[in-house]
Amino acid sequence: MQDRAAGRTAKIWRDGNLVNWEDANIHVISHVAHYGSGVFEGIRAYETPAGAAVFRLQDHMRRLMDSCRIYRMPMKWTAEDLAQATVETIAANDMTAAYIRPLVMRTGEQMGFSPIGVPVETFIILWNWDTYLGHEAFENGADACVSSWRRPAPDTFPTMAKASGNYLNSQLSKIEARQDGYHEAITLDSFGYVSEGSGENLFVVRDRVVYTSPISAGILHGITRDTIIRLAREMGHEVREQNMPREMLYIADEVFFSGTAAEITPVRSVDKVPVGNGKPGPITQALQAEYLGIAKGQVPDRHGWLTPVPVAAAVR
Ligand code: PMP
Repeated sequence: MQDRAAGRTAKIWRDGNLVNWEDANIHVISHVAHYGSGVFEGIRAYETPAGAAVFRLQDHMRRLMDSCRIYRMPMKWTAEDLAQATVETIAANDMTAAYIRPLVMRTGEQMGFSPIGVPVETFIILWNWDTYLGHEAFENGADACVSSWRRPAPDTFPTMAKASGNYLNSQLSKIEARQDGYHEAITLDSFGYVSEGSGENLFVVRDRVVYTSPISAGILHGITRDTIIRLAREMGHEVREQNMPREMLYIADEVFFSGTAAEITPVRSVDKVPVGNGKPGPITQALQAEYLGIAKGQVPDRHGWLTPVPVAAAVR
């Protein structure tokens, strides 16, 4: 049960046990606190007519395992173990919808930055997260700017790992955007091509063709991005994963962000240039409706993307 005032849920999964929110602590000397050595996921469970259901749970856990592999983090849990643990944690907290944050960290009490031999701990945390960029942006479109900060070059930080340390880069672009009065930043990659938002992937529509940056453009390979690519193709649109010069943003008919937290958020301006007519476009709106329709169980789950949360899964 969620204590809404405090934003806390009763239970957090900690390496096989459900512990109280207050007891999910790590020591200040933990490796992750000093050196950013965590990897994590962001997943959503939605309320459907048949109860809570988690969207693309197995795909998220697979990406978590990939992040661990990239950073050579020894994992004692399988993707299936963590998927099961997620379902149990949602049920234990009596939640009908949740934002789910699996987090794998190097902890221990070793003070050097070498991660070799440092213990790894895994948590699954839940909370309620409403629209990520705000209702206004979700409905009417976000105002975005192109950041002066770039995404890391391919031989620096691996962006296919969803690593805690990567979000220092995202924080810089987010701070800049917010201080300059924008909802969100769009970053370029180290070659100057469009990469992604500080916490979302990016799509551009022009002449009914749907474009998105390729995996090589310093992006996180988003699960929502993959969902949108598939749904757009099913709707009959040509989808191109290709490098985009910055000016594509200024001549686009439609631009939108995709992400688990942001869902599908239209972009109504980039660097104060209105996108199209400055209102969410028809392809953006159709994809937003289809995505949320499937996630909320209102449109048939023809891809098997939903994992139901049986009430009986609760372990107390
Ligand atoms: N890029 C970044 C930097 C992100 O943080 C996210 C959110 N996890 C995304 C893209 C979108 O990924 P997904 O659709 O898997 O949530």
